[in-house]
Amino acid sequence: MAERVLVGAGVGSGVASGPAFVHFQAIEALAEISKPGARIGLIAIKKAIDEVANELDSVQTAGAALEVMQALAMILRDPQLFEVVKTHLSEGHDASRAIRGAFNQFARQLEALGGYFAARAADLGYLGNRVIEELSGRQGGPEFPAEPFILVTDALSPIDAAKLDPARVLAVITAEGTPTSHSSIIIRAARLPMVVGAVGAPVIRQGQNLLVDASSGQVFVEPTIDRRAQYASAANPPTEALELALHPSEKPLSVKLLANLGSSIEAKVALQSGAEGVGLFRTELLYLGRDQPPTFGEQVAEYVELLRQFGSSRVIVRVLDLDFDKPLPFLQQAGEGRYANRGLQVLLANPQVLDTQLRALAEALTIAPMADLWVMAPMVLTAQDAAAFAGFARRAGIKKVGVMVEVPEIASPEVIAEVLKHVDFLSIGTNDLTHYTLGLSRQNGNVTLADTRRPEVLSLISAVIEAGKAAGKPVGVCGEAASDPETARLLIEMGVDSLSASPSLLPGLRLEL
Ligand code: PEP
Ligand code: MG
Repeated sequence: MAERVLVGAGVGSGVASGPAFVHFQAIEALAEISKPGARIGLIAIKKAIDEVANELDSVQTAGAALEVMQALAMILRDPQLFEVVKTHLSEGHDASRAIRGAFNQFARQLEALGGYFAARAADLGYLGNRVIEELSGRQGGPEFPAEPFILVTDALSPIDAAKLDPARVLAVITAEGTPTSHSSIIIRAARLPMVVGAVGAPVIRQGQNLLVDASSGQVFVEPTIDRRAQYASAANPPTEALELALHPSEKPLSVKLLANLGSSIEAKVALQSGAEGVGLFRTELLYLGRDQPPTFGEQVAEYVELLRQFGSSRVIVRVLDLDFDKPLPFLQQAGEGRYANRGLQVLLANPQVLDTQLRALAEALTIAPMADLWVMAPMVLTAQDAAAFAGFARRAGIKKVGVMVEVPEIASPEVIAEVLKHVDFLSIGTNDLTHYTLGLSRQNGNVTLADTRRPEVLSLISAVIEAGKAAGKPVGVCGEAASDPETARLLIEMGVDSLSASPSLLPGLRLEL
């Protein structure tokens, strides 16, 4: 079976592999209490809410998890919450809608308060699901297998998170949720790899083999032998070698080894893995699953959090890279053509979204002025695109502006030389560049890391690096192939300035170079 790659937000660190145990609880329970004739009234709902609050009180736990349980029980006992459920019922909604509606409304209110409260809003969803489960009589939870497994679920309630047995659960993948929710805090404290908001998680079937990389937020379904080998060599470097890998100054390299991150929460792990900065900060998680783009303030908070942790080291942030395979309600389509609805093309059709993001980045830099912030655009096709993006970025106050090289059209010597007149650096995205150049499908797992070493692709990469040298501007590589030692050695010989990969792969890579 072909490998599939799902992406979400990584929580904590580490890699795990094992069979999937799939449990989409809330959806099943919802169907149960929404059955025709399932008339559930106010008293039953109140009882279910109280039961869940009592359950939170009785979970045997300590430390961070105990604080979480207490905070959630308080939310559940808030009389305002019950008032909202009542209003929804009196408006004629059935029990499931009344509960979901009330918990969502309460979540929005928390979000509006911002900061700590906003981060707690995600927990309301889990609590609502838990109450629905209670009403459906499913309070016993799933029968977990005896053998170790990777839990795949829609949303993990903090209660379920606190009850998981770390001896049997190898990792957790959820279709919903955020890295800062209470459940995520508990799983991170238990040192289990977790990926939340994994787009496409419902495609995972019972018993399928999974490989979870919490640092990069990637889930590989039925991973290839190549992929397993790549992670095995990274995961098991000999101890003394690992020590060396974690102390870069002891083994100087001619390139910077940077980390690919999807949220500021992963920064700590990246630093522990010896990352000398960030080569690709993907910003999609700020936008996914929302009806409105993240506000200026929310974005500034996330970028400041990221920049502060990296001190004066280089941090390359990529502006939003969405395609219309995963449409978002607040984005206009960009139009026709092969690459029309990807990356910068979408942003140029939504200039307000681009401008807010760039201004938020510039603002973050004024709050963390020591930072070395570079900002780049994905899926740039022409020199005109590069000029347009550079114009937006510089007007917003960004000093170091770059573009990604991800399609063969931009990699031609004439085009790239022209592009370099407008920008300060280039970053080669080998994931997209490889599949677009070879006409393979990235989605169906047709592309392997070794494909980046095919002459058609390598000649483009080499031409781009040469153009960068001629213009005196750095060229980095941030696609997955940068973590493949054989490719990495070739790239270094070609004169690349930095290699950027998932934090968990950095120690192994450093050893091989
Ligand atoms: C790439 O295409 O190589 C890249 C780094 O971008 P993404 O994987 O996010 O498309
Ligand atoms: Mg890409």
